[in-house]
Amino acid sequence: MPEVKILITEDESIVARDLASRLQKMGYVITEVVDSGKSAIESVLRHQPDLILMDIMLQGEIDGIETAAKIQAIAKIPVVYLTAYADRETLKRAKATHPFGYLLKPFKEKELQVTLEIALSRHQAEVEFQKAVEVEYQTQYQAQIQEKQAEITRKSLYLSMLSHDFRTPLSIVKLAAEVLQHQSQNLTEEKKQKRFRSIQTAVTNMDQLLSDVLAMEQTDAASLKFSPARLDLVAFSRDVVETIQSLTNQNTLIFTSSLPENARPCLDEQLLWHLLNNLLSNAIKYSPQGGNIWLTLSGNDREICIQVEDRGIGIPLEYHSNLFKPFQRADNVGRIPGTGLGLAISKQCVDLHQGQIAVESEEGKGTKFTVTLPIPTPIA
Ligand code: ATP
Ligand code: MG
Repeated sequence: MPEVKILITEDESIVARDLASRLQKMGYVITEVVDSGKSAIESVLRHQPDLILMDIMLQGEIDGIETAAKIQAIAKIPVVYLTAYADRETLKRAKATHPFGYLLKPFKEKELQVTLEIALSRHQAEVEFQKAVEVEYQTQYQAQIQEKQAEITRKSLYLSMLSHDFRTPLSIVKLAAEVLQHQSQNLTEEKKQKRFRSIQTAVTNMDQLLSDVLAMEQTDAASLKFSPARLDLVAFSRDVVETIQSLTNQNTLIFTSSLPENARPCLDEQLLWHLLNNLLSNAIKYSPQGGNIWLTLSGNDREICIQVEDRGIGIPLEYHSNLFKPFQRADNVGRIPGTGLGLAISKQCVDLHQGQIAVESEEGKGTKFTVTLPIPTPIA
C-alpha cells in the first residue's frame, strides 16, 4: 500500500493520542496532531496530508467546519469529521463543506477503518475523473486552437493572394490616367476611349477583388469563388494582352488563337483574369532583356489549352515541382522582386476549373506554361 499521510485535528489530547496510535497500527502515517483550526491550516501547508480527520469542536476561534472550509479553498484534501455532536444544524453546516465521511464518537476501529478507506478511494476516483476531464478539455481546446490557427493561415494566404492581384489594375489605372492627362492632345478619340475602357475594366476587377475579400469575412470562405459562365474567350484574352502590353515597352506580346471566333466556353472570367494576368506578368518580369512573349489559345470541344511562353531567364529544374506552392521562388531570380504567390493563385484558378497546369523550362532559355481546362459543354 502506498504511504497515506493523515493529519489529526482533535482538541482532546487523550482521544487524539489514542486515534494516532490506532491509525499507525493500521499502517497510516500521522503527519501531525493539532488542536486548533489555525494550526491545522498551517500543518496542511507544511505537510500536505492525504486526508484530514477533523474534530468539529476545536481550540481557538474557528471550529472544525470553518477550518475545513478554509482548507478546501487552498487544497483539495478529503476531510472526515469526528464529533460527539450530531444535531441537525451542525450536520447541515458540515454537509455544506462536502466531507468525505462523518464519524460519531465513540466509534469502533472497524468503522474508522472503513470510513477512511471509502474516503480515500472516493477522493482518488474524483481526482482521476477530474484529470480525465482536464485531459479531454485540453485535447478539445488544442484541436480548436489548431483549427483556428489553420483557418487564420488559410485566410491570410487568401488575403495575400487577393491583394497580390490588386497591383496590375492599379498600375493600369495610374498609367491610363497619366497618358490621358499629359498626352491627351496627341491621342485619337479611339485611343482615348480605349484608355477609358481599360480604367473601367481595372476598376471592375478591383471591385471584384474587394467583394471577394468581404465575402471571405462574411462566409469564412478561404478560397477564390468559381462562377463559370459562357465567355468570349478570344476577345477576353485579346483585351488582357492589350492591357498588359500597355504597361510595358520592354517586351512584345503576341496573341494567337486557333479557337473559332465564336467560341463561348463556360469558364470563370474573374479566375481567368487572375490566371492570364499572373502568367503574362511573370513572362514579362522574368524576361528582363526583352523579347517576345506568346499567348496561344487552342482547343477542341472537350478542353481549352492556354499557353504562355517566353525566352526569359528560365527556371532551374529542381524548382519545377514546387513552384505552384505559395512563397516558392527559384534562386536565379536575382534582384527581380516578387512574393512567390502568383503561380499559387494561378494554380488555384486552374484547380477550380478542374484543369491542369504544367511548366516546361530550361534555365537561360525560356519558359512555357501550359494550362488545360476541361469544358463540360461544347465550346461554340
Ligand atoms: P509574385 O508573388 O509577385 O508573383 P513571383 O513572381 O516570384 O512573385 P510566382 O509568380 O508565384 O512568384 O512565381 C514563382 C517563381 O517561379 C518565381 O519567383 C520564379 O522563380 C519562377 N517563375 C515563374 N514564372 C517564371 C517565368 N516566366 N520565367 C522564369 N521564372 C519564372
Ligand atoms: Mg509572379
